[in-house]
Amino acid sequence: MPPALAPSSSRRQFVGQLAAGAAALALAPAAARAATAPPPLPSKKLGIALVGLGGYSIGQLAPALQRTQHCRLTGAATRDPGNKGRQMAQVFGFPEKNVYAYDKIAAMKDNPDIDIIYVVTPNSLHRQDVVAAASAGKHVITEKPMGVSVADCDTMIKACRDAGVQLGLGYRNNFDPYFQEMMRIARWKEFGALKAMSGEFSGNINAPGAWRTQKALSGGGPIMDLGVYVIHASVLAAGGESPVSVTAKATVKRPQIYADVEEIMEFTLEFANGAKCDGFTSYGGSKPGGGGANRFRADYERGFLNFPEAFNYNGTSATTSRGPLSFPNVADSSDNTYQQARQLDDFAHCVRDNVPTSVPGEMGRQDMCIIEAIYASAKNNGARTPVKA
Ligand code: NAD
Repeated sequence: MPPALAPSSSRRQFVGQLAAGAAALALAPAAARAATAPPPLPSKKLGIALVGLGGYSIGQLAPALQRTQHCRLTGAATRDPGNKGRQMAQVFGFPEKNVYAYDKIAAMKDNPDIDIIYVVTPNSLHRQDVVAAASAGKHVITEKPMGVSVADCDTMIKACRDAGVQLGLGYRNNFDPYFQEMMRIARWKEFGALKAMSGEFSGNINAPGAWRTQKALSGGGPIMDLGVYVIHASVLAAGGESPVSVTAKATVKRPQIYADVEEIMEFTLEFANGAKCDGFTSYGGSKPGGGGANRFRADYERGFLNFPEAFNYNGTSATTSRGPLSFPNVADSSDNTYQQARQLDDFAHCVRDNVPTSVPGEMGRQDMCIIEAIYASAKNNGARTPVKA
């Protein structure tokens, strides 16, 4: 079992604790003292460096990397190499020489301990960090949203292609068996044509000045951070197809916090066959009477999939028209790093065996095209706006 470093057991709780990243690290040494030293690792495990040591890196990814089979945590880049980076190296058992400042990511090139660089910084920094990682000749994973614009995504995809390295997204849900069952049903059209979808992912941020409320760092409000999960789920439920057009409305209820980005985004995605997805995402709590802050439903001609708990780190629950979904063989699904461990192992396997990742940069770009159309519609009083490819 990994040390209990996670600040909370659910994505929703975590969103409410965005300021707790430093506190999470403060917990780490105690947890590490309680844990025994990690056993020697087989040499075939690929080394991963985390770029950005905030809440998600420390709470989810680093602990997940203690349970992975094909990769392990071997390095980090941080604003604070001498302190936070050093502490991270001691807690997670990698050499302090593998800690870098952000502006030295390219120097990872000469470090054979690092095979993969995982970018977990604020959204607008993903582009520069991915480009630096590619210039180091390392394979790259970047967190969602992939960047803050389609142009960002194009730059990252080109940099990785030119460097001959793989670029993957941190789309953890794609490695959750519940979502994989949805993807399978959609791909094989087991329930026939898609008819309608709806979804919400909301949290509560009441922290003026947090980077998620600053457009220069976040690129936007909850649609970038949480709404992207609903968008991505709808594309998966549509068998990978993108909506052709969108309508959207952005709202701010607390202008003292949300002067720069939307606080709430309501959006409708329209697919080629006429199916629609009604989406809602908010940093001000869930939609009144909406049925939950963390849900997704897809209705098809001959059946449905309903996720009352769709996007948490654990505790996913889903029912289909055939009955409740259950995966008793996924013994670790109650752990709040199991999606990440599966995601990380899958990427390591793809790198090691030279297989293309199932969550490539192009997938993140596709979602960013939808987000750009949503912002364009919201800016244009909810006008129907085509999604560019
Ligand atoms: P966080 O605020 O907890 O951490 C951000 C990190 O970036 C910190 O270590 C901070 O020091 C660093 N940083 C570097 N430059 C910075 C700057 N100029 N301003 C502020 N911080 C700076 O954020 P987080 O929740 O860990 O999110 C990081 C990324 O991970 C985001 O892109 C987010 O969308 C993504 N994320 C993904 C998931 C998921 O489930 N896949 C969950 C949470 C976050």
